[in-house]
Amino acid sequence: MNSVDSLTGFLNRFGCFHTAMRLAAEASGSRQTFAVIWLDLDRFKQINESFGHLVGDEVIENLATRFRPCVLGRAEISRVGGDEFVLLAPGFNREQAFLFAVELASIVQEPLHIGSLTLRPTASIGVAVHEPNEDPLTLLERADHAMFAAKSKGGNSIVCSGDEPIPGRMGVTLAREELAIESTLHEALETGGFCLHYQPIIRSDGKVEAVEALMRCNLNGENISPMRFIPVAEKTGLITRLGELSLMQGAMQARALQDAGFKTKVAINVSRAQLISAEFTHAMHAALVCSNASPELIELELTESLFMDISDTVQQNLKEIIAAGVNLSIDDFGTGYSCLASLKDLPAGKLKLDRAFVTVLPDDRRALSVVNAVTRLGHELGMTIVAEGCENQQQIDVLLEAGVDAIQGFFYAKPMPEAELLNWLKARST
Ligand code: C2E
Ligand code: MG
Ligand code: MG
Repeated sequence: MNSVDSLTGFLNRFGCFHTAMRLAAEASGSRQTFAVIWLDLDRFKQINESFGHLVGDEVIENLATRFRPCVLGRAEISRVGGDEFVLLAPGFNREQAFLFAVELASIVQEPLHIGSLTLRPTASIGVAVHEPNEDPLTLLERADHAMFAAKSKGGNSIVCSGDEPIPGRMGVTLAREELAIESTLHEALETGGFCLHYQPIIRSDGKVEAVEALMRCNLNGENISPMRFIPVAEKTGLITRLGELSLMQGAMQARALQDAGFKTKVAINVSRAQLISAEFTHAMHAALVCSNASPELIELELTESLFMDISDTVQQNLKEIIAAGVNLSIDDFGTGYSCLASLKDLPAGKLKLDRAFVTVLPDDRRALSVVNAVTRLGHELGMTIVAEGCENQQQIDVLLEAGVDAIQGFFYAKPMPEAELLNWLKARST
């Protein structure tokens, strides 16, 4: 930026600060709010360096001209730096400001023809809405900060202030919602807010082959889905404690079923984060010893992504699982990084076909081809095939016809609390 540019940049910064002051003063005492939208072009430095400052200037002028009709009467716009624009939009709430930012982003993206060049610029945009009594400088800083968060996502995105990722307590970068979940997980761990629910897996002959243990988190009457809390537990390391809980309670359940006369396996989900740790086998042995369950009644479900890079520790853990007599199955097969090459080397006896292939049945012929092929392949490798997420009879019919060995899904039963499981099994076996 040359000295004239930096001076106008400063003046404009001052101008937009001034407008923010005025809008904040107008907002005080009324319920009127206003938004700041901070827009920064992506890779503008690269445009300047590759094509020269004249092209850079033309890009800015072009964009300023394009912005004008969209902004007119809705916001005041200032150019606050070489490639940065700040808009102050009176009366805009968060949703309206976000939609405005979407409009601006699409204006930026329209192809720009400069001489023989066609450029397709993108922008990183931060949005912040004035809070009651907030000082205008803080508001502008929040918008700027949100814009940086959009930039660190790789650009071409919009972030609203408050949604930026911030460092969590364990040095992992988490978004605010994730931090709230993390704190709930800590509290639930302290207050016994976790338990396992069990979902039956039914063989083609109608017998109950296993039950899958699925973690539930309930705090102060509110349930949080494992789809939300497991990824946070994995990021923060809390999965180690949750995983130990799952192993211990699952093994206890296997023992309880065994004592009640059922030879039903209990399938326990294991995260990658657990299996890459040398501590994993201690947790598994502790669960076996404490529960006194037969190891062949325990099955560990591992997702296929685990097998992409098998470290020495993972290999050692897999060996110990097999040596202990515990079964292995590959969960959610087909959605991750299905690696047919590693499939042949895995000591797993079961393959669970992901729900994504099942929900589209019976109409999706291509999905059915995948089910047929995977079932044949799995059988050739000596594995049994389970289809997940089966919700109706037509799906069951085509799956059994394809040769699938067992089925899990809401059609048979939803995951149920421990207290209901025994009655369900008794009713089924009579
Ligand atoms: P998953 O291991 O693939 O478990 C199957 C999921 O599919 C369960 O969701 C189950 O409720 C759901 N499901 C089963 N049948 C149907 C159906 O017919 N229709 C539909 N729409 N859904 C069906 P849930 O309980 O929400 O668990 C989600 C995921 O969270 C699990 O997927 C698993 O990856 C993870 N998870 C759950 N408990 C644990 C745990 O203790 N440890 C670890 N590491 N992960 C767990
Ligand atoms: Mg599973
Ligand atoms: Mg699954």
